[in-house]
Amino acid sequence: MSKRDSPPDARPFMEDILVEGAREHNLKDVSLRLPRERFIVVTGPSGSGKSSLAFDTIYAEGHRRYVESLSTYARQFLERVDKPDVDRVEGISPAIAIEQYNPVNHSRSTVGTASEIYDYLRLLFARAGKIHCPDCGGEVAPATVDGAAALLLDAYPDARGFILFPPPPEEDEGEGPEETLRGLMARGFVRAMVEDEALRIGPALFERLRKEAPPGGEKPARERLSIRVVADRLKISARNRARLGESLETAFREGGGVAEVRIVDGPRLRFSRNLECCGRTFEPPVPHTFSFNNPNGACPECGGFGSALRFDEALIVPDPRKTLAQGAVEPWTRPRYRRHFGAQLQEAAESEGLDIHVPWEKMSRRQKKMVFEGTEKLLGVYPFFERLKRRKYKVWVRVLIRRYQSRQKCPACGGARLRPEAQWIKLGGRGIAELCAMPVKDLREHFRAPPLTPEQEARAGDVLRQVRERLDFLHEAGLEYLTLDRETRTLSGGEHQRINLANQLGARLAGTLYILDEPTIGLHPRDNARLTGILKDLVERGNTLLVVEHDRDLINEADHVVDLGPGAGERGGEVVFSGPREALDGCAKSATAKFLSGERRVSPGKARGKAGGDGARLTLTGARANNLKGVNLRLPLGRLVAVTGVSGSGKSTLIRDTLYPALARILHEEAKGPIGRFGRIEGFEAVASVALLDQSPIGKSPRSNPVTYLKGYDAIRRLFADTPRARSMGFGPGHFSFNAPGGRCESCAGSGIRKIEMHFMADLFIRCPDCEGRRFKPRTMEVEYKGKNIHEVLNLTVDEAALFFDHAPSLLNKLLVLREVGLNYLRIGQPVSTLSGGEAQRLKIAGQLAARPPRNVMYLMDEPTTGLHFQDVERLLSVLARLVGLGNSVVVVEHNLDVIRAADWVIDLGPEGGEAGGRIVAEGTPGEVARTPRSHTGAFLKACLDGAG
Ligand code: ADP
Ligand code: ADP
Ligand code: ZN
Ligand code: ZN
Repeated sequence: MSKRDSPPDARPFMEDILVEGAREHNLKDVSLRLPRERFIVVTGPSGSGKSSLAFDTIYAEGHRRYVESLSTYARQFLERVDKPDVDRVEGISPAIAIEQYNPVNHSRSTVGTASEIYDYLRLLFARAGKIHCPDCGGEVAPATVDGAAALLLDAYPDARGFILFPPPPEEDEGEGPEETLRGLMARGFVRAMVEDEALRIGPALFERLRKEAPPGGEKPARERLSIRVVADRLKISARNRARLGESLETAFREGGGVAEVRIVDGPRLRFSRNLECCGRTFEPPVPHTFSFNNPNGACPECGGFGSALRFDEALIVPDPRKTLAQGAVEPWTRPRYRRHFGAQLQEAAESEGLDIHVPWEKMSRRQKKMVFEGTEKLLGVYPFFERLKRRKYKVWVRVLIRRYQSRQKCPACGGARLRPEAQWIKLGGRGIAELCAMPVKDLREHFRAPPLTPEQEARAGDVLRQVRERLDFLHEAGLEYLTLDRETRTLSGGEHQRINLANQLGARLAGTLYILDEPTIGLHPRDNARLTGILKDLVERGNTLLVVEHDRDLINEADHVVDLGPGAGERGGEVVFSGPREALDGCAKSATAKFLSGERRVSPGKARGKAGGDGARLTLTGARANNLKGVNLRLPLGRLVAVTGVSGSGKSTLIRDTLYPALARILHEEAKGPIGRFGRIEGFEAVASVALLDQSPIGKSPRSNPVTYLKGYDAIRRLFADTPRARSMGFGPGHFSFNAPGGRCESCAGSGIRKIEMHFMADLFIRCPDCEGRRFKPRTMEVEYKGKNIHEVLNLTVDEAALFFDHAPSLLNKLLVLREVGLNYLRIGQPVSTLSGGEAQRLKIAGQLAARPPRNVMYLMDEPTTGLHFQDVERLLSVLARLVGLGNSVVVVEHNLDVIRAADWVIDLGPEGGEAGGRIVAEGTPGEVARTPRSHTGAFLKACLDGAG
């Protein structure tokens, strides 16, 4: 049957993805059919089973098949890797998962290398770059016969001239040029020019050479006496054009690429076919020349890192309003050094005229120099650190030193990471490092009309097209504020995921199944449309997209929606709806449908208490890190504050990199790494402590889990140890630890898994063959408490455990807190290393609530709605309200409009990302911000508030 014969609606079954009987984690024997080459969104409450379906079943199976087809080495382990618990998966193509996690890669990886644009730039520069002489700034271009002839005819018409070349070097050291000249004579070259005199090559010349430059002198003869061989003597005229060309060619050939022309009664001109200028010879560039990961390219000073740790005055003297006597030099105010340096400063003041009662900012440069470099009486800041460095093997010394250092540009390469040679090569007047320091936005402009000559275009046109296209992809992914030289380890998970997404556009694959995890994380609603554009582009090329998402815009743009639920964990795992987007609206069972249609709205949380409110503020002025333009941050205390703005506007720089470390240093006397630059901070007296609850992983240990994190495991172990059985066997609480030897399975050290290192591929994890993942020895598991052994207890969900332990109040309390933050579906023994960023963050929030009720704490959170569905956002808001009600301040960096709407105060940064951002565009109540015309957030907030009526 040909394609045309098939009725339009009956697409053959083979074309669909078919999942039958999926039971991974909480999935309840799920079967569904998904259209291929479509944009599919999987949604539902957190813990309902979205990842279990998308990643742990469909992707896992796709990846298994892919690995199976690839490597026989890998295949032998595959049987031992747990297969997803599913009866049948059909119609899946090779699958690629694009997750948010930012692999801890070596710090030389940059946006340029990760997006592969840098590789194309290297190629472009190697093929079409021009060398510029560092001494004269001129372009270093090899001479040609035609070029040299044209120049001579133009500048010296009808002059007489000698065409010369330097004789080749002697074969033996110490031998004079005589042998060489004899050889040339034999080949028909009869004259030489010695200094400025043309002579016949013959005995008279040799005699003179022996006299004036005898062989075996200190320097070779040719350096003491200028000797050139005459290739021709002619009149430079158009009639002689052919002969001129031939003679120049001869001279170039015989002279090792160098020809000279002595104009009679005129100058001597030098032409070189080699790359040389101002006495320097250049290597023709190759792609390695521009590689900072390669010793041929990397700056020898910094090894290609572009930066080095150096002492930073702003960190050593954090408050320049202080005088030396008041402790302006912070390291010397530590208890350990205070007395010693107090005395030294006093002495230096008395006998050397050091002004210790003048604010640091008013001191002269000479006075500051005395403090930094030291005097007879005063050790000096730098010598002090030098002395400390000798004890660097001590951790506290390293920590102390690091606290006063910041990463600064390498002085040798100026941050370019490359050898000077690489920086001499320019394209359109700019070096490769210069281009990499430009934001993608400007770089796109630059390459839209690059001044390439037709010859360059011919050699590098195809590479240029690649560069342009990939820059477009980064732009479409909403990353145009990034520079190519930005280190990838400083990117957020969302930015990382979007780079990978842009790479997939470049890979031009078809027939691939892409599985993504919340690609809207970190993206302002303004940029959602562009993201959808990319996803649809991939679909148009014949790929299938399976996207786990909660974002309203994205769900609305989907071709097909899978709604899982109805609840989380055991109460989820069912398909509530699966079908075309349009059909979802009529689905009465689906809570998602109600939120989408506006029938239900996220409730902004309970009314908050005013505790600690009363108009108190914390202010941080003059913040200037990264793109911040002297931002003055004013945070009302005892409130829920949302910090908003498009990606790259400076939210994280302000909150995570400046406010947090600045407060931590004051409130906790703790070194938290470098602090973003700012002027002063005030009003912190009302804040007792600061906590950053972000999405970074809680730990890598497979032995840490939600109950251990909340310090609830000790209670469980004690309950087990108190059973008659444990007593009779002599097992104390320690026996039920999986952190220490005793009762745990030793072959996996209590982790239940074993790692197999796969060469060139991601490591495989297999279930421990001894305990089969149960983590304890059989004897330990003989002990039961209320009918369950320790392994079974750790396998309970939070909800189940709350019933099981309802008689143990302290433990129950902790479990209820986990429930409150929406982690009711987690298994209490699930390793924290397997939690998503959003779950990890909620566990950290739970950790705050599980201890004594916190008071006067300032909580800083980074998109706490990550991984949350509409209902979950409601729950999160009530937890935040509870924190505020207890008298704490909560600052969230957010894009979720339901959260922004519920905030007491909004601070909107922008207006754009990167250099065009870094200012406060609007601040006030959500209503006030919604009325600010210049604010992108305001516009979306307005639509959202209007919708609420
Ligand atoms: P979602 O992606 O919808 O948030 P998940 O698929 O991650 O939900 O989780 C569904 C259920 O499966 C939850 O009860 C969760 O605790 C459980 N689960 C997820 N991953 C694991 C795991 N590695 N081991 C055991 N249970 C898991
Ligand atoms: P947001 O959190 O609003 O997305 P960021 O604070 O991450 O914005 O970024 C603000 C600006 O500072 C952007 O131009 C970004 O590229 C730049 N930036 C952020 N972190 C770094 C860094 N570690 N090194 C260099 N530039 C950075
Ligand atoms: Zn360097
Ligand atoms: Zn084991």
